[in-house]
Amino acid sequence: MEIIKTDIAIVGAGGAGLRAAIALAEADPKLRIALISKVYPMRSHTCAAEGGAAGVIKSDDSMALHFGDTVGGGDWLSDQDAVEYFIHEAPKELTQLEHWGCPWSREPDGSVAVRPFGGMKIKRTWFAADKSGFHILHTLFQTSLKYPSIQRFDEYYATDLLVEDGHCQGLTALEIRSGQMKQFQARAVIIAGGGGGRMFPFTTNGAVKTGDGMALAYRAGVPLKDMEFVQYHPTGLPNNGILLTEGCRGEGGVLFNKDGRRYLQDYGMGPETPIGQPVLKTMELGPRDRVSQAFWHEQKKGNTVSTPWGDCVLLDMRHLGEKKIDERLPLVRDLCISYLGKDPVKEPIPIRPVVHYMMGGIHTNIKAATPLPGLFAAGECACVSINGANRLGSNSLTELLVFGKRAALSAIEHVQSGLSASKDAALTGQAQASETRIGTLMKKSAGTETIAGLRKEMMETMETNVGIYRTGSELATACDKISELRQRYAHIALHDKTHVYNTDLMQALELGSMLDCAEAVTVGARDRKESRGAHQRLDFTERDDVNLLKHTLAYYHPTEPPRLDYLDVVITQSQPGVRDYSGAKK
Ligand SMILES: Cc1cc2nc3c(=O)[nH]c(=O)nc-3n(C[C@H](O)[C@H](O)[C@H](O)COP(=O)(O)OP(=O)(O)OC[C@H]3O[C@@H](n4cnc5c(N)ncnc54)[C@H](O)[C@@H]3O)c2cc1C
Repeated sequence: MEIIKTDIAIVGAGGAGLRAAIALAEADPKLRIALISKVYPMRSHTCAAEGGAAGVIKSDDSMALHFGDTVGGGDWLSDQDAVEYFIHEAPKELTQLEHWGCPWSREPDGSVAVRPFGGMKIKRTWFAADKSGFHILHTLFQTSLKYPSIQRFDEYYATDLLVEDGHCQGLTALEIRSGQMKQFQARAVIIAGGGGGRMFPFTTNGAVKTGDGMALAYRAGVPLKDMEFVQYHPTGLPNNGILLTEGCRGEGGVLFNKDGRRYLQDYGMGPETPIGQPVLKTMELGPRDRVSQAFWHEQKKGNTVSTPWGDCVLLDMRHLGEKKIDERLPLVRDLCISYLGKDPVKEPIPIRPVVHYMMGGIHTNIKAATPLPGLFAAGECACVSINGANRLGSNSLTELLVFGKRAALSAIEHVQSGLSASKDAALTGQAQASETRIGTLMKKSAGTETIAGLRKEMMETMETNVGIYRTGSELATACDKISELRQRYAHIALHDKTHVYNTDLMQALELGSMLDCAEAVTVGARDRKESRGAHQRLDFTERDDVNLLKHTLAYYHPTEPPRLDYLDVVITQSQPGVRDYSGAKK
């Protein structure tokens, strides 16, 4: 097996991975950086982000307000030291992107424009029309091309970490084009592998989001944190889950039920606000968890609209007018017309909540370091945790930048600490074990299970039992089922035996990642007997700060469900309080 020696290996070339690579290259041009990605960088999910990135920039805003919105929005499960670091770094990172050429939308006076976003008291979301992620990723990608020390390994699928002498020293990856395994020896590894929303059938997430990065760390003994917190975005197209950004409501779009009522006023997000003049942090600008939960109640009450794609509510943007929609939401208009045959300039758009984002992920500290020395993580795959029990829209893109850079700086510190590398033979032994694992999977043609069959059962289990509202018995069913699917996974059949672009093999590996992550989600959710943020239990309806103001840590076991442990939340300035989106003056 070919050995590629590098200083720092990064798994993932989305927003977090590219930001980390640039920070490494800037800090020390002599560092050898391997940037490994299963797809070309521009196909990473960051490219699909629409609405924008949050950071304090205007004079009516403040760090204290961004802090308060984020911690309250996260239902006090966020680590407040991490949030403090995040909000202070955020404007610097967004300005840095501007200097690298990101075409942020402008106010008429030429200053950077900001738009309102859900759960935020003040307009603070920087945006580039409704293609913010596309422009951010392009900016990062182009900037990365300046640095010869960043060596890209596009279409390489990372399969296992190499851990020797108690620290992470590289990884194995499959070169998808040739089917050959490669061994990357590195003095530090940064995982920036993105989320895993594809374990659910109805999601905004691109097909690449299969939780591989999380599974890599998890299987190497690093705990996954707070995996039970899965975000539903309230406004997805009902036929395919494509996202209509929160920017639609930020710009003034409103939500109606079948009777034409702006129903959010009935769920603690009232009073009704004037149409066309969005009022911050209330009604349509409530946080995602609450707005998605309101849909669930409307559906139970029979207040939703029946459509060929299931029950929906209506997102009305007509009053914004064609000019504004074309200027601020051109992609949204295009998506509605292309995928649903409806023009938001002319008619309301049926929408329903859709799985969007994972608050949980690889357990890291505020320096983006995991408990495994030499291993760092950033972006959606990591849980640092700034998002707590519910992420506020537009905090994620900024998080990629802030903690992508932080992971790079920490990795450099680690490399400079001078830990000696293990002998080639020890690492090669491990790499060969990884090669054998993939080889065994490839030989499985007599298996009784199909990849598609298991994946379908997994998705149905997650959708039916681990949705917006959950119960103990449904979660117990989900745990049993996912555990059973993990066992049946040992019997899958792979029919494609070729080595070149073997998508059968890729899908088998991705399914393995999703099943491991799904089990951490279900077991964590079953044992969290409270309702907090995106985790709502019909059998435990209250938040329990006495017993559960804690992070869940799930530890991997190859054949058994994960062992759970708990970790105190870091509180620096804000004690848990009431999340108030009623618009009442205090
Ligand atoms: C439709 C949509 C719109 C969004 N809009 C916004 C928004 O407006 N504002 C906001 O703040 N957030 C938004 N989000 C969330 C945000 O975009 C994501 O959380 C973020 O982009 C994730 O970035 P990342 O760098 O962590 O991962 P990604 O961009 O998903 O990149 C993951 C990388 O990991 C690589 N990878 C994964 N597994 C492997 C493996 N096994 N081997 C090698 N490489 C691997 C992939 O190739 C990829 O390069 C949106 C999300 C979606 C889905």
